[in-house]
Amino acid sequence: MNRILFASAFLLAAISAASAEELPSAPLISAATVPVSKAPAVKLVEPHLHIARSNLAGHARIALTFDACMGQADERILSTLVRERIPATIFVTARWLKRNPAALAVFLENPDLFELENHGQNHIPAVDTPTLIYGIASAGSAQAVKQEVEGGAAAMAAAGIPAPHWFRGSTAKYDLSAIGEIRAMGYRIAGYSVNGDGGSLLGAAITEKRIASAKDGDVVISHINQPTHAAGEGVAKALVDLKAKGTEFVRLEDVEDMGDDKTTE
Ligand SMILES: [Zn+2]
Repeated sequence: MNRILFASAFLLAAISAASAEELPSAPLISAATVPVSKAPAVKLVEPHLHIARSNLAGHARIALTFDACMGQADERILSTLVRERIPATIFVTARWLKRNPAALAVFLENPDLFELENHGQNHIPAVDTPTLIYGIASAGSAQAVKQEVEGGAAAMAAAGIPAPHWFRGSTAKYDLSAIGEIRAMGYRIAGYSVNGDGGSLLGAAITEKRIASAKDGDVVISHINQPTHAAGEGVAKALVDLKAKGTEFVRLEDVEDMGDDKTTE
Protein backbone atom coordinates (compact mmCIF):
# COMPACT_ATOMS: atom_id res chain seq x y z
CA MET A 1 0.00 0.00 0.00
CA ASN A 2 2.80 2.39 0.85
CA ARG A 3 4.25 1.80 -2.55
CA ILE A 4 0.99 2.62 -4.22
CA LEU A 5 0.56 5.80 -2.21
CA PHE A 6 4.08 6.81 -3.01
CA ALA A 7 3.51 6.14 -6.68
CA SER A 8 0.36 8.25 -6.63
CA ALA A 9 2.14 11.19 -5.09
CA PHE A 10 4.95 10.75 -7.54
CA LEU A 11 2.55 10.81 -10.45
CA LEU A 12 0.70 13.83 -9.17
CA ALA A 13 3.94 15.71 -9.11
CA ALA A 14 4.79 14.63 -12.61
CA ILE A 15 1.40 14.39 -14.19
CA SER A 16 1.38 17.64 -16.10
CA ALA A 17 4.64 17.08 -17.87
CA ALA A 18 3.93 13.39 -18.32
CA SER A 19 0.90 13.93 -20.40
CA ALA A 20 2.13 16.89 -22.31
CA GLU A 21 3.82 14.44 -24.68
CA GLU A 22 4.19 15.87 -28.11
CA LEU A 23 2.95 19.40 -27.95
CA PRO A 24 5.23 21.69 -29.90
CA SER A 25 5.20 24.43 -27.29
CA ALA A 26 4.27 25.22 -23.72
CA PRO A 27 1.43 22.74 -23.18
CA LEU A 28 0.83 23.80 -19.60
CA ILE A 29 0.26 27.38 -20.60
CA SER A 30 -2.12 26.28 -23.32
CA ALA A 31 -4.07 24.18 -20.88
CA ALA A 32 -4.19 26.95 -18.31
CA THR A 33 -5.53 29.47 -20.76
CA VAL A 34 -8.38 27.31 -22.04
CA PRO A 35 -11.59 28.91 -20.79
CA VAL A 36 -13.30 26.69 -18.29
CA SER A 37 -16.56 26.95 -20.21
CA LYS A 38 -14.95 25.21 -23.18
CA ALA A 39 -13.58 22.36 -21.10
CA PRO A 40 -16.55 20.60 -19.51
CA ALA A 41 -15.78 18.53 -16.46
CA VAL A 42 -15.19 14.93 -17.43
CA LYS A 43 -13.93 12.44 -14.89
CA LEU A 44 -10.62 11.24 -16.27
CA VAL A 45 -8.36 8.53 -14.92
CA GLU A 46 -4.69 7.84 -15.54
CA PRO A 47 -4.51 4.14 -14.76
CA HIS A 48 -1.63 2.37 -13.06
CA LEU A 49 -0.15 -0.87 -14.30
CA HIS A 50 2.16 -3.27 -12.50
CA ILE A 51 3.57 -6.64 -13.49
CA ALA A 52 4.16 -9.74 -11.39
CA ARG A 53 7.34 -9.31 -9.36
CA SER A 54 10.30 -11.64 -9.62
CA ASN A 55 10.74 -11.52 -5.81
CA LEU A 56 14.40 -12.24 -6.39
CA ALA A 57 16.79 -9.91 -4.61
CA GLY A 58 19.11 -8.26 -7.08
CA HIS A 59 16.93 -9.24 -10.05
CA ALA A 60 14.05 -6.79 -10.11
CA ARG A 61 11.62 -7.50 -12.95
CA ILE A 62 10.77 -4.37 -14.89
CA ALA A 63 8.72 -3.74 -18.03
CA LEU A 64 10.04 -0.85 -20.09
CA THR A 65 7.40 0.75 -22.29
CA PHE A 66 8.11 3.45 -24.85
CA ASP A 67 5.64 5.63 -26.67
CA ALA A 68 6.30 6.55 -30.31
CA CYS A 69 3.67 9.28 -30.52
CA MET A 70 4.72 11.10 -33.69
CA GLY A 71 7.90 12.79 -34.79
CA GLN A 72 11.06 10.75 -35.19
CA ALA A 73 12.96 7.83 -33.66
CA ASP A 74 15.43 8.40 -30.83
CA GLU A 75 18.51 6.49 -31.94
CA ARG A 76 20.17 6.99 -28.55
CA ILE A 77 17.52 4.77 -26.99
CA LEU A 78 16.91 2.40 -29.88
CA SER A 79 20.59 1.62 -30.41
CA THR A 80 21.10 1.01 -26.69
CA LEU A 81 18.17 -1.40 -26.54
CA VAL A 82 19.55 -3.35 -29.49
CA ARG A 83 23.20 -3.28 -28.42
CA GLU A 84 22.42 -4.32 -24.84
CA ARG A 85 19.72 -6.80 -25.96
CA ILE A 86 17.12 -5.22 -23.66
CA PRO A 87 13.51 -6.21 -24.41
CA ALA A 88 10.84 -3.51 -24.42
CA THR A 89 7.26 -2.82 -25.41
CA ILE A 90 6.83 -0.03 -27.96
CA PHE A 91 3.53 1.81 -28.44
CA VAL A 92 3.32 3.16 -32.01
CA THR A 93 0.84 5.44 -33.75
CA ALA A 94 -0.09 5.31 -37.42
CA ARG A 95 1.47 8.76 -37.75
CA TRP A 96 4.80 7.63 -36.34
CA LEU A 97 4.91 4.45 -38.45
CA LYS A 98 4.43 6.46 -41.61
CA ARG A 99 7.48 8.64 -40.90
CA ASN A 100 9.90 6.10 -39.46
CA PRO A 101 10.30 3.07 -41.73
CA ALA A 102 13.97 2.58 -40.78
CA ALA A 103 13.25 2.36 -37.05
CA LEU A 104 10.29 0.09 -37.75
CA ALA A 105 12.62 -2.20 -39.67
CA VAL A 106 14.90 -2.41 -36.62
CA PHE A 107 11.93 -3.35 -34.44
CA LEU A 108 10.80 -6.02 -36.86
CA GLU A 109 14.33 -7.41 -37.26
CA ASN A 110 14.49 -8.00 -33.50
CA PRO A 111 11.27 -9.78 -32.55
CA ASP A 112 12.99 -11.27 -29.51
CA LEU A 113 13.41 -7.72 -28.17
CA PHE A 114 10.45 -5.69 -29.30
CA GLU A 115 6.76 -6.12 -28.70
CA LEU A 116 4.85 -3.53 -30.74
CA GLU A 117 1.50 -2.31 -29.44
CA ASN A 118 -1.17 0.22 -30.37
CA HIS A 119 -0.83 3.93 -29.49
CA GLY A 120 -3.64 4.98 -31.82
CA GLN A 121 -4.05 6.46 -35.25
CA ASN A 122 -3.64 10.19 -34.81
CA HIS A 123 -2.54 10.50 -31.18
CA ILE A 124 -5.92 11.74 -30.02
CA PRO A 125 -6.84 11.16 -26.35
CA ALA A 126 -9.18 8.17 -25.99
CA VAL A 127 -11.93 10.01 -24.14
CA ASP A 128 -15.45 9.66 -25.51
CA THR A 129 -16.74 13.01 -24.28
CA PRO A 130 -15.65 16.29 -25.87
CA THR A 131 -13.05 17.91 -23.65
CA LEU A 132 -9.55 19.28 -23.71
CA ILE A 133 -6.61 17.50 -22.09
CA TYR A 134 -3.61 19.78 -21.77
CA GLY A 135 -5.09 21.71 -24.64
CA ILE A 136 -5.52 18.62 -26.87
CA ALA A 137 -9.06 17.88 -28.06
CA SER A 138 -10.30 14.46 -27.00
CA ALA A 139 -11.77 11.98 -29.47
CA GLY A 140 -15.13 13.18 -28.18
CA SER A 141 -17.40 10.23 -28.98
CA ALA A 142 -17.42 6.47 -28.68
CA GLN A 143 -17.17 6.23 -32.46
CA ALA A 144 -14.11 8.49 -32.56
CA VAL A 145 -12.42 6.47 -29.82
CA LYS A 146 -13.11 3.34 -31.86
CA GLN A 147 -11.63 5.00 -34.95
CA GLU A 148 -8.50 6.02 -33.04
CA VAL A 149 -7.96 2.47 -31.81
CA GLU A 150 -8.88 0.68 -35.04
CA GLY A 151 -6.94 3.16 -37.18
CA GLY A 152 -3.84 2.45 -35.14
CA ALA A 153 -4.30 -1.29 -35.50
CA ALA A 154 -4.93 -1.03 -39.24
CA ALA A 155 -1.70 0.91 -39.76
CA MET A 156 0.18 -1.71 -37.77
CA ALA A 157 -1.26 -4.52 -39.88
CA ALA A 158 -0.37 -2.63 -43.08
CA ALA A 159 3.20 -2.27 -41.79
CA GLY A 160 3.53 -5.99 -41.22
CA ILE A 161 3.30 -5.84 -37.42
CA PRO A 162 1.56 -8.69 -35.56
CA ALA A 163 -1.91 -7.81 -34.26
CA PRO A 164 -1.70 -5.70 -31.08
CA HIS A 165 -3.21 -6.76 -27.75
CA TRP A 166 -2.51 -3.64 -25.74
CA PHE A 167 -3.65 -0.06 -26.27
CA ARG A 168 -2.33 3.10 -24.69
CA GLY A 169 -4.02 6.35 -25.65
CA SER A 170 -2.45 9.75 -26.13
CA THR A 171 -1.86 11.49 -22.75
CA ALA A 172 -2.49 8.10 -21.01
CA LYS A 173 -5.78 9.52 -19.74
CA TYR A 174 -9.24 8.05 -20.32
CA ASP A 175 -12.78 8.29 -19.11
CA LEU A 176 -14.21 5.11 -17.65
CA SER A 177 -16.68 4.59 -20.49
CA ALA A 178 -13.89 4.76 -23.07
CA ILE A 179 -11.95 2.20 -21.05
CA GLY A 180 -14.99 -0.08 -21.28
CA GLU A 181 -15.25 0.49 -25.02
CA ILE A 182 -11.58 -0.26 -25.65
CA ARG A 183 -11.72 -3.35 -23.44
CA ALA A 184 -14.77 -4.53 -25.43
CA MET A 185 -12.63 -4.30 -28.57
CA GLY A 186 -10.38 -6.96 -27.03
CA TYR A 187 -7.55 -4.77 -25.73
CA ARG A 188 -5.86 -4.50 -22.39
CA ILE A 189 -5.09 -0.87 -21.58
CA ALA A 190 -1.54 -0.03 -20.64
CA GLY A 191 -1.12 2.26 -17.69
CA TYR A 192 2.22 2.49 -15.95
CA SER A 193 3.75 2.80 -12.49
CA VAL A 194 6.87 4.89 -13.12
CA ASN A 195 6.82 8.08 -15.16
CA GLY A 196 10.32 7.90 -16.55
CA ASP A 197 10.78 11.03 -18.62
CA GLY A 198 7.86 13.35 -17.84
CA GLY A 199 6.52 13.25 -21.38
CA SER A 200 10.12 13.55 -22.65
CA LEU A 201 10.31 17.03 -21.15
CA LEU A 202 12.61 16.31 -18.20
CA GLY A 203 16.37 16.76 -18.08
CA ALA A 204 18.78 13.89 -18.68
CA ALA A 205 19.94 13.46 -15.07
CA ILE A 206 16.50 13.35 -13.47
CA THR A 207 15.23 11.02 -16.19
CA GLU A 208 18.12 8.64 -15.63
CA LYS A 209 17.50 8.70 -11.87
CA ARG A 210 13.76 8.06 -12.19
CA ILE A 211 14.11 5.10 -14.53
CA ALA A 212 17.12 3.58 -12.78
CA SER A 213 15.13 3.73 -9.52
CA ALA A 214 12.36 1.46 -10.86
CA LYS A 215 11.50 -1.40 -8.52
CA ASP A 216 10.50 -5.03 -8.88
CA GLY A 217 7.13 -5.14 -10.67
CA ASP A 218 7.24 -1.64 -12.12
CA VAL A 219 6.08 -0.61 -15.58
CA VAL A 220 8.09 2.38 -16.82
CA ILE A 221 6.74 4.80 -19.42
CA SER A 222 9.00 7.01 -21.47
CA HIS A 223 9.31 8.21 -25.06
CA ILE A 224 11.35 7.02 -28.02
CA ASN A 225 10.28 9.71 -30.47
CA GLN A 226 12.10 12.86 -29.32
CA PRO A 227 15.73 12.61 -30.44
CA THR A 228 16.39 16.31 -29.76
CA HIS A 229 15.23 16.23 -26.13
CA ALA A 230 17.69 15.83 -23.26
CA ALA A 231 15.46 13.21 -21.63
CA GLY A 232 16.42 10.56 -24.17
CA GLU A 233 20.05 10.73 -23.12
CA GLY A 234 18.95 9.97 -19.57
CA VAL A 235 16.77 7.10 -20.76
CA ALA A 236 19.68 5.51 -22.61
CA LYS A 237 21.95 5.81 -19.57
CA ALA A 238 19.31 4.35 -17.27
CA LEU A 239 19.01 1.27 -19.47
CA VAL A 240 22.69 0.54 -18.89
CA ASP A 241 22.32 1.30 -15.17
CA LEU A 242 19.44 -1.13 -14.81
CA LYS A 243 21.18 -3.87 -16.72
CA ALA A 244 24.24 -3.50 -14.48
CA LYS A 245 21.98 -3.99 -11.46
CA GLY A 246 20.83 -7.40 -12.72
CA THR A 247 17.39 -6.28 -13.85
CA GLU A 248 15.12 -8.80 -15.55
CA PHE A 249 13.57 -6.91 -18.48
CA VAL A 250 10.23 -8.19 -19.74
CA ARG A 251 7.65 -7.15 -22.32
CA LEU A 252 4.00 -6.83 -21.38
CA GLU A 253 3.16 -10.00 -23.30
CA ASP A 254 5.67 -11.99 -21.24
CA VAL A 255 4.19 -11.63 -17.76
CA GLU A 256 1.10 -11.40 -15.57
CA ASP A 257 -0.09 -7.85 -15.01
CA MET A 258 -2.32 -5.87 -12.70
CA GLY A 259 -3.98 -2.68 -13.90
CA ASP A 260 -6.46 -0.50 -12.02
CA ASP A 261 -9.57 1.30 -13.34
CA LYS A 262 -10.67 -1.98 -14.98
CA THR A 263 -7.93 -1.70 -17.59
CA THR A 264 -6.83 -5.34 -17.55
CA GLU A 265 -9.09 -7.59 -15.47
ZN1 LIG B 1 2.00 9.46 -27.03
